[in-house]
Amino acid sequence: MPTYIVLLGPPGVGKGTQAKIIAERLSLPHVSSGDLFRENIKNGTPLGQLAQSFINKGELVPDDVTIGMIRERLSRPDCAGGALLDGFPRTTFQAEALDALLAEFGGQVDYVPYITASEETLVERLSGRWTCRAQGHVFHEKHNPPRQPGVCDFDGSELYQRDDDRAETVVRRIQVYFQQTEPLIAYYRARGRLHEIDGAQPIEKVTADLLAVLGR
Ligand code: AMP
Repeated sequence: MPTYIVLLGPPGVGKGTQAKIIAERLSLPHVSSGDLFRENIKNGTPLGQLAQSFINKGELVPDDVTIGMIRERLSRPDCAGGALLDGFPRTTFQAEALDALLAEFGGQVDYVPYITASEETLVERLSGRWTCRAQGHVFHEKHNPPRQPGVCDFDGSELYQRDDDRAETVVRRIQVYFQQTEPLIAYYRARGRLHEIDGAQPIEKVTADLLAVLGR
């Protein structure tokens, strides 16, 4: 049976950082909806063009577009054993669509680790964040600095600040999270899948807590 993990938590809580570490430890593909959108934007695809205006405003991309993109990604052969989902689902509608999709693949959402932190921590983390152009590795100028400023430790590519990490957009993204994504917590709690993890801890401690939840 494939294993599907949905990593939940507000923007800036360290989901992307943890997802990369956990996916590698578990040998599962890291499926990040944000990374998939950014890849489409970089390549100038119609999907990227459509998504860009929503992303730049800090709004969610429409559900049908997002669900279609995830369906295509999860259908690829590397996801036959499951996947670690990061940034999807973000609405209850998407969560229901995911349940239906995974049922088609003979699977289900097995674990939903939910990483939390205060709003103040999130704003601070997002505004000091630097992202790698090649593969989306993330750094923080204070809490997780790269060895050499402006250069990714993992692949040597350039680090940049995402447009949507600007102060005005950050505030909107956090608002959107509380309005549209927080209801998912109740959704997964009711299904007995939710495990809360304190995201204000050091990176290594969050990883250890995640591995414990996942029984590794
Ligand atoms: P992220 O990298 O996860 O912070 O996502 C960046 C942006 O991509 C979000 O602010 C949304 O505009 C868009 N996005 C990512 N995932 C989703 C999703 N599941 N549903 C709708 N929009 C999304």
